Amino acid sequence: QNVINQIAAGEVIEAPHSAVKELVENAIDAESTEIRIEISKGGKELIKVTDNGMGIAAEELRTAFLPHTTSKLRKLEDLEKIESLGFRGEALASIVSVSKVEIYTKTNESEVGVYGVFEEGNLINCKPMGCPNGTTIIIHNLFSKTPARLKYLKSDGVESSKITELITRMALSKINIAFQYVNNNNIMLTTRGDNSIQSVVETIFPRELSSSMIAGKEVDVLNHGEKISITGLIGQPHATRGNRSYQVFFVNNRLVKSNFLSKIFEAAYKDSLMINRYPVGILYFSIPSTLIDVNVHPAKTTVKFFDEKIIADLFTEFVQTNLFQQTN
Ligand code: ADP
Ligand code: MG
Repeated sequence: QNVINQIAAGEVIEAPHSAVKELVENAIDAESTEIRIEISKGGKELIKVTDNGMGIAAEELRTAFLPHTTSKLRKLEDLEKIESLGFRGEALASIVSVSKVEIYTKTNESEVGVYGVFEEGNLINCKPMGCPNGTTIIIHNLFSKTPARLKYLKSDGVESSKITELITRMALSKINIAFQYVNNNNIMLTTRGDNSIQSVVETIFPRELSSSMIAGKEVDVLNHGEKISITGLIGQPHATRGNRSYQVFFVNNRLVKSNFLSKIFEAAYKDSLMINRYPVGILYFSIPSTLIDVNVHPAKTTVKFFDEKIIADLFTEFVQTNLFQQTN
């Protein structure tokens, strides 16, 4: 009960990108290896997420869309371990309360799949249907019945760019999953899911950047007997950008935004850098958890380094070691 009260607070779905985030996180939780996201009109008209994951059994379909029926939360202590806001068991319930939803789903064990339609939160149609293993959820006209909310959404272009950013981040974080993202019938992004960061960078970064990026040699340092290390790909001096959107940092495998890291990165390039150009790269920091404080927020994950100097020195060393290498 307590758990439910604690997690009930707050609104889950406030814009199309939050619906996309919840659906894709569910697909990831369902151990999918392929996830396809399709939207139109910034996600306001249509959001369709197809995965090849474990599916939902027909007899569980109704409960999966009821509030607080997550299979994941059992004890209060679990709440402390929750790192993703998806772990609340109310995403699907919230989505069907603000839109018409169609679902096709089939588990590996069942011979035939199931098709369901939700309107105003109720399952109004449910029947057996032949479909592949996995789940497709289609959200029609999000918030069309709540014009007050609809009014607060940004233009289709702005809403879809938020979705693009979200999916790009997810594709960078989950390189073992093949993502495809389609916006108004245009393929925006495709990754192979082949567990290669090089391959993800080739599909996500513009060609003139990805072709100049090289895998750097790892650098590391010991801090009180614990290893801090940096690996990743960095662009060569000529491959720069007008902003920081191709500076990607992972700290202990979590994608973070960090002005601090960006500044160190830029300073390390300064000698060879033209004015107002930003280096590009995708960097992996492995740092003992006692040296950082990670703050997970729905919009972005930030990190505080307790010893900034040791990180700055090591990052500078990584750049200097790897900056002037031959590219092919
Ligand atoms: P939560 O993810 O917090 O459990 P949701 O409302 O997002 O809550 O989903 C409710 C339940 O529906 C999940 O726990 C899961 O059992 C099931 N589910 C949702 N999406 C999928 C999916 N794509 N594949 C398999 N099961 C799913
Ligand atoms: Mg969920």
